Amino acid sequence: MHTIDVAGVSIDTRHFVNGQRLTSPATYTNTSPIDGTFLGEIARGDADAVNAAVTAARAAFPAWSKLGPKKRGELLNKLADLVEANVETLGNIETLDNGALLRSHLRGVMPRVAMNIRFFADYAINDLHHDAFETRGHTNNITWDPSGVAALITPWNAPLMLATWKIGPALAAGDTVVLKPAEWTPLTASYFADLTKQAGIPDGVFNVVFGYGTEAGAALTAHTGVSRISFTGSVPTAKIIAHAAADNLTPVSFELGGKSPCIVMADADLDLAAEIAVEQYDNAGQVCLSGTRILVHESVADAFAEKFRDKVAALKQGDPRDPDTDIGPQVHQAHFDRIKGFVDRATADGQDILWGGGPNTELGGLYFQPTLVKNPAPGSEIVSAEIFGPVLCMQTFTTDNEVIAMANGTEFGLAAVVVSGDRDHAKRITDELVAGTIWVNCFFVRDLRAPFGGSKKSGIGRDGGTWSFDFYADVKNTVVSPNGWKD
Ligand code: ADP
Repeated sequence: MHTIDVAGVSIDTRHFVNGQRLTSPATYTNTSPIDGTFLGEIARGDADAVNAAVTAARAAFPAWSKLGPKKRGELLNKLADLVEANVETLGNIETLDNGALLRSHLRGVMPRVAMNIRFFADYAINDLHHDAFETRGHTNNITWDPSGVAALITPWNAPLMLATWKIGPALAAGDTVVLKPAEWTPLTASYFADLTKQAGIPDGVFNVVFGYGTEAGAALTAHTGVSRISFTGSVPTAKIIAHAAADNLTPVSFELGGKSPCIVMADADLDLAAEIAVEQYDNAGQVCLSGTRILVHESVADAFAEKFRDKVAALKQGDPRDPDTDIGPQVHQAHFDRIKGFVDRATADGQDILWGGGPNTELGGLYFQPTLVKNPAPGSEIVSAEIFGPVLCMQTFTTDNEVIAMANGTEFGLAAVVVSGDRDHAKRITDELVAGTIWVNCFFVRDLRAPFGGSKKSGIGRDGGTWSFDFYADVKNTVVSPNGWKD
């Protein structure tokens, strides 16, 4: 048996290579974070499976790359249509597999998956352009040529959303793809593979290898047949991948962790600030962009904390399939234990835990209470490490210089949030922040045309619009002389 029945559909648990299903000698067990139920045995990819996938992707490359943006766009738009027609199925599969809210999957995430495909397909046709320009009568013609096989390594917190953010531009650019999804959340990638087949994407253009990062992931990133490596995940894993990529000089794009500041200025609308602060618990805190360090001006700290507390108290924790639920479970026992370790150490240190502080004992399982640590000791791991759970800390400041230093004072630089009632003041702060994305009086407003990525240890490169194509394609300048023509 190589299929499992979830969410009313049958999902293949084998790799998807050259349009066919492929087994590996070993499997690993996949369970649901909602209640620990067994979901299935998934193919555990090894170097052979990876080699088969890269070989298929390389064989499919010449025809796919020559097809051109328009013909590729037709197929990719068909794929986007199929995703849209299957939002409910995909949402249910993803919720069972990673425990994120079904409500969010149906309303935002899965429609966004379709948009990831459609946007880049259309962008390649309509917007990927640089005006030719002259150099002493010679014309510079700039083009984005397909580069080969893109290896995509993706995380478990928003599995299909983050995978298609890479798949969309890679396929639109004319590359072929080998995807290695996170081991804890393989299921939507398998269903998506079936949709690529239904859409008529030629065999070998899109391939999926399941398995562990240290096996399938390591084999893929070290493969000499790969022309690009795009990775979203943790800093330690990025360093390992960077070493693997170095041997072949394979270009990498990394979107890594964060420990972003959420700054509440003295002149902020505190209701808005509390609304934004509570959003930092979204996806049970498993969001790389979260503003996990709340930095609040001392003069408004108590008033803000009261409003924030009320919002947190109103959050409903429970089964992510329930439309009233705001916070679901953590993705996996190992991850839950890691989060608990941070909070247990903070408690043992005598840090001031304003709310939460441990597992939700009523619900049991992988449900961890939204937690706030107040004024953690400077240098404590609570203010420097990415916890990736529903654990925020709150610190106070008195001057702009102080908050700027605090905000920039980690190894990360992915995002920042500033809440202020004064435009000039907000700008003075944002001008000084080191971060790939800054939100002012808002959170998580995202546009695929905008650059997205991290500064410092939060990443290498930017995704979005032309930036994505700059990575997946070989950017070429053809300089044409006015001389030598026989016409
Ligand atoms: P997390 O710690 O949040 O699970 P990781 O960075 O370890 O994040 O995982 C993100 C992705 O990287 C997953 O698909 C995982 O399988 C993969 N991965 C982990 N280790 C390696 C590795 N050594 N080489 C390639 N990919 C890896």
